[in-house]
Formats: sequence, C-alpha cells, structure tokens
Amino acid sequence: ALVLKDVHKRFVQRGRVSHVLRGVSLTVGAGEIVALVGESGSGKSTLARTIMRLYRPDEGRMLFGGVEVGQIRGRLLKDYRSQVQMLFQDPFASLNPTHTIRTIMAHSLPTNRTRMSRREKENLFADALARVGLNPPANFLTQFPHELSGGQRQRVALARSLAAQPKLVLADEPVSMLDVSLRLSVLNLMQRLNEEFQIGYLYITHDLASARYVASRIAVMYAGEIVEEGTADKVIEEAKHPYTQLLIEAAP
Ligand code: ATP
Ligand code: MG
Repeated sequence: ALVLKDVHKRFVQRGRVSHVLRGVSLTVGAGEIVALVGESGSGKSTLARTIMRLYRPDEGRMLFGGVEVGQIRGRLLKDYRSQVQMLFQDPFASLNPTHTIRTIMAHSLPTNRTRMSRREKENLFADALARVGLNPPANFLTQFPHELSGGQRQRVALARSLAAQPKLVLADEPVSMLDVSLRLSVLNLMQRLNEEFQIGYLYITHDLASARYVASRIAVMYAGEIVEEGTADKVIEEAKHPYTQLLIEAAP
C-alpha cells in the first residue's frame, strides 16, 4: 500500500512561496483503484509528481509497502520508481519521441527484468501490446510515438506499464484527450489490468462519473487538501464540502 500522512509541498518562485500541498493524507491499498478528483489547480498533478518522487515532500510521511520513501535517494529511489509508474494526459509527455516503441518498453523494465533474453523481452512486449488491442504487435514495436494516434499512444503507455508490472500506476488524466469510445476502452483496460495483475491505480480526473465507474474509493481534493474520501456512494451521498456538492450537481 501507499500511505501518505500529512504531506506538504511548497514551491518558491522569485521569492514567493506557494503552499500547494497542505497536509495530504491518503492511502492507496495494494491492488486498489482510488480516484483523485479535484478542480484545476488544486494540486493533483503536484501530488502525483511528489508520489513519483520527482519532488521531495517538505513535510509529512510517505510510506510504500511500509517503507518510508519520502527522502530516499540513489539505488533505493531507483528501485522505488520501478514499482511506481506515471501515465500522463498526453502520452507524448512520457514516450521518448526519438525511440521506437520496443526501446521505450525496454527502458521501463525494472532492474530485475532487464536480464531477460532478447526473445523473452520480445514476447513480453508483444503480449502486452496485444492485450491493449494493438495488433499485430510486431508492427507497433518498430514504430515511433509520432507515427501513432493519440489513443494508440495512450495504449502503448498502458502496455508499457503492463510489461514493467509496477505495483502502482499514477494515471494523471489519462483519458481526457481521447474520444468517448476510446476513453471507455482505456478505462476498461485499466480495470482489467487491475483485476488480472493487481496493479494499483491512482486515477486522477476532473470527472466524477468516470471516477465512480472505475474506482473503489474516491478522494476529493480542494486547494491542496483532501476534503472528502470514501466509497463513491458515501462521497456522493454524504458530501460535506461545497466543492463536492458542486461536482455532484455538475455530473451528468
Ligand atoms: P489541473 O487539473 O489543471 O491539471 P492540478 O490539480 O493538477 O490542476 P497542479 O498542476 O498540481 O494542479 O498545480 C497546483 C498549483 O501548484 C498551481 O497553482 C500551480 O501553479 C502550482 N505549481 C505546480 N507545479 C509548480 C512548480 N513546479 N513550481 C511552482 N508552482 C507550481
Ligand atoms: Mg494536473
């Protein structure tokens, strides 16, 4: 499980301090899908980047599998990052444009899987691509990200996380750039990977309906704090914060 306790993050820009994460406490159980919903600027991506340890939390505790990871460095950090992956709104952001899909997938393999033979890797990548519906996989392995459509790129990003088998995927608005039918297929895929491989997800979105659709629990973020947390039904029925009420009214 990932457990955050009272995590703070501040940025200093031109002498001004912005306090973006204001004591975030949140748990994503092993193999659980938790949705993080919140308005633009509330700190969702900052939280994801902090969990990914692109930033160091200024205060608070961050435990992964019971181990404090908030301040680790070097090999420990590398190991931690191989267990946690990030999926971005624009998969271009995470797919190196100068590499083929094969190389991109090879680079994300955790250290304990890089010793596989060429043949084994090839099978693993092909299997992952086929599972996300990119067929025939062999055609995709030699392509570059810009040669694919947006939806295909997002599926490559998912296939990559499947091959690497992280314990947790931080999916930061992974479907907001996709059309409606692709949105559903990527969400369904996420759910299937969760069920089959117990990959946990922190699914970040503006959209309460899709959060309710995929997640077992929902956390609502407002101005750097989690203002609501629980099962979808509980959050919707017992909404306390005005922002949550607004979200519910706006949901279709
Ligand atoms: P959106 O839904 O629009 O993606 P968000 O909830 O992901 O919004 P963040 O990207 O986490 O919001 O940004 C939260 C706040 O933190 C914003 O006011 C932003 O300007 C600020 N912020 C984010 N990253 C940095 C940074 N590296 N330096 C300074 N300020 C930052
Ligand atoms: Mg964001």
